[in-house]
Amino acid sequence: MGHERYAQININTKTKVLDKPFTYGIPESLVGQVGIGSKVMVPFGRGNKPIEGYVVGLSETSEYDKVKNILSHEVQLSLQPWQIKLTKWLKKRYFCTMSEALGLMTPPKMQGHVKEIRMLRMNPTLNYDEVLKGISQRQKIMLRVLEGFHQRNVIGEDVLKKEYGATNKHIQQLLDEEILLYHTVENFRMPTLEAWNERIDIKLNFDQSEVFDRVMPAIDNSLPQNFLFHGITGSGKTEVYIKLVEETIKRGKQAIILIPEISLTPQIVGKFFQAFGDEIAVFHSKLSAGQRYDQWVQVNRKEKKIIIGPRSALMSPCHALGLVIIDEAHDMAYKSDKNPKYHSRDVAFALGQLHNAPVILGTATPSIDSLRLVEQGKLEYLKILRRYNNAMLPSIDVVDMRDELLHGNKTIFSNELKGQMSAALSKGQQVILFLNRKGYANFIKCKECGFTLKCPNCDISLTYHKYDQQGKCSYCGFYTVVQENCPSCESAHFRQFGLGTEKIEELVTDLFPNHPVGRLDSVIAAQKGKTEEVLRKFQSKELSILIGTQMVTKGLDFSNVTLVGVLSADILLNFPDYQASERAYQLLTQVAGRAGRGDMKGHVVIQTYSPEHFTLAAVQGQDFNGFIREEQLIRKTFHYPPYVKMANLIISGDKEERVEMVANRLGKGLRDVIEKNNIEITEILGPNPALYSKIKNKYRWQIILKYQPSVFNIVRQLLQFLCIEKANQIGLDDVLINIDIDAVKLL
Ligand code: ADP
Ligand code: ZN
Ligand code: ZN
Repeated sequence: MGHERYAQININTKTKVLDKPFTYGIPESLVGQVGIGSKVMVPFGRGNKPIEGYVVGLSETSEYDKVKNILSHEVQLSLQPWQIKLTKWLKKRYFCTMSEALGLMTPPKMQGHVKEIRMLRMNPTLNYDEVLKGISQRQKIMLRVLEGFHQRNVIGEDVLKKEYGATNKHIQQLLDEEILLYHTVENFRMPTLEAWNERIDIKLNFDQSEVFDRVMPAIDNSLPQNFLFHGITGSGKTEVYIKLVEETIKRGKQAIILIPEISLTPQIVGKFFQAFGDEIAVFHSKLSAGQRYDQWVQVNRKEKKIIIGPRSALMSPCHALGLVIIDEAHDMAYKSDKNPKYHSRDVAFALGQLHNAPVILGTATPSIDSLRLVEQGKLEYLKILRRYNNAMLPSIDVVDMRDELLHGNKTIFSNELKGQMSAALSKGQQVILFLNRKGYANFIKCKECGFTLKCPNCDISLTYHKYDQQGKCSYCGFYTVVQENCPSCESAHFRQFGLGTEKIEELVTDLFPNHPVGRLDSVIAAQKGKTEEVLRKFQSKELSILIGTQMVTKGLDFSNVTLVGVLSADILLNFPDYQASERAYQLLTQVAGRAGRGDMKGHVVIQTYSPEHFTLAAVQGQDFNGFIREEQLIRKTFHYPPYVKMANLIISGDKEERVEMVANRLGKGLRDVIEKNNIEITEILGPNPALYSKIKNKYRWQIILKYQPSVFNIVRQLLQFLCIEKANQIGLDDVLINIDIDAVKLL
């Protein structure tokens, strides 16, 4: 390493004008230690207030005569050089600030989370007597502290201070020398997952070995090769993942397994725990800041070889990444809707390049986007189109709810579904019911005057929740007690419309009073440990029926489930989004795949008012290729991804007139530049008020730009110029332009 004397440092700031590298001197004592990625404290501003930052560049000379020096270096919390590279890539590609991109890489403390009391333990790789020899007899407190660890193994910082007289400095020194390590008692495993079965040693079958053999050369030779692994539900993808991860860590490398959301897929996490135990770091939304911090530090210290988590796990500080697996790769949760608005797939590919590691997108229902990448030779296609052990795929019935109405059945359960439920339950088998809508009712409306209860901040209907009799906004969290009479005309015909999971739970309990019912949705998931509890009870057959939203469609592997009921396919099919059919196909196929995973044949009942929809015919016939062909044609004809890319510009602010004015100006600017330069833009839509025209008290306008993938870089520069550089010049303080250059959702 050259001994550079100057460092370019990005400080942690929300102020856009400060979001650029500042040059600092590296003091003598830190030369050779401070490198790219180092976390440092630097004096900032006129008052020389110490402020934290990350080194993003080094140089031997400085163009400035006088620079201030770095104050200190925090080894523990420093980033890897590749993380800085990725930060710069994110900034350039997604128009975010350096601080926003760094925020993805850094442990939670930097983002202002509460500091928690952590436990400390002695580094298990060290010998106590050896360590003692290294400490002078005069360092009484140090000796006392080490003696303490010899006796008690694990001690909290507060106890060290109170009982042993240690100071922060003592503790920091021991941590820096890696004599002590952080330790939290319960965060090494997800305690609630212990109930899953013991892992038996598994041998891959023929299909699985084929996939394994195709990926192994890339792991062996460190090739950044990308794969699409299309394995139908029950084909045993997880087992292939586990074997590949095993080989990766045998070679001294680390592996990342992304899952859409841990609380949605506890079972797959459980399988990894059975296989790898303590070698795993898990990141998920219910970890406390302290737990997350610990996991982060442990990965940074190479103590954890396997990282499991949602999309943010991609940014964890790996040293030698050897494999990335994205499970349920078609899931929308992989696209970030906050700045930087990245897609995990694209970041994973970039990461694969940085580390020379293969990336696997695993799914039972590959997205149209990923199939396009296969066509273009950017993804290698691997498939298993048989279930493990040749378990049969379930039979699927589509029930026309219009017929039910004609025959006088006004309930949400068709006779077919009720009949099949009774049959399955009477044989001691279990049932899963899927409805993609939480709450009790999805809107509250007056039959007399038409008044609908809406969120005052967001202009969106409130969802009614019966358990606390409140109407809630799913965007901003606003809630209000729902009165019995219409607030507008005082009519008593103020009612809830549209059924949600909470209501279904009630109806099913009435229908089958002898069969206990469990429910999984985001209301349940918000309660700590509740999801796991429901799943455990379902596993042990304490519950006969499981009702839920998307949470019941993914990854669940219960062999006693023989019937899956989809209460309304229409909610999926009618969603106002160009991807509605694709999402419906995926969800219906996924949820159908929960049935008949054991020895018993499975059945699926799908209820709908539009049985003629091509998506339902494809789901019923399990005709993936047929569905894809049809949907590709629609996308091509109507100019939707993957045949074009879409940039979604949201212009928002407190004052409606200002937002509208800026949106119109921007729209005109865009059209002018595009016309003058003959850029291959397929369509410009807008400016128009966005579908959600007000969220959290901000008015929102929208411009959508459809462009050819080949002009991505030109569009990026265009938006950089018009929306960022030019906007800064005009000084748009009160209006925000938010750019999603590769949008999936247009809301
Ligand atoms: P997928 O994730 O593709 O839906 P899973 O990995 O959950 O499928 O596998 C389906 C079931 O088959 C699981 O219960 C799994 O343990 C079992 N299974 C899959 N492969 C094997 C194997 N090679 N040996 C034994 N059991 C297997
Ligand atoms: Zn709201
Ligand atoms: Zn009314």
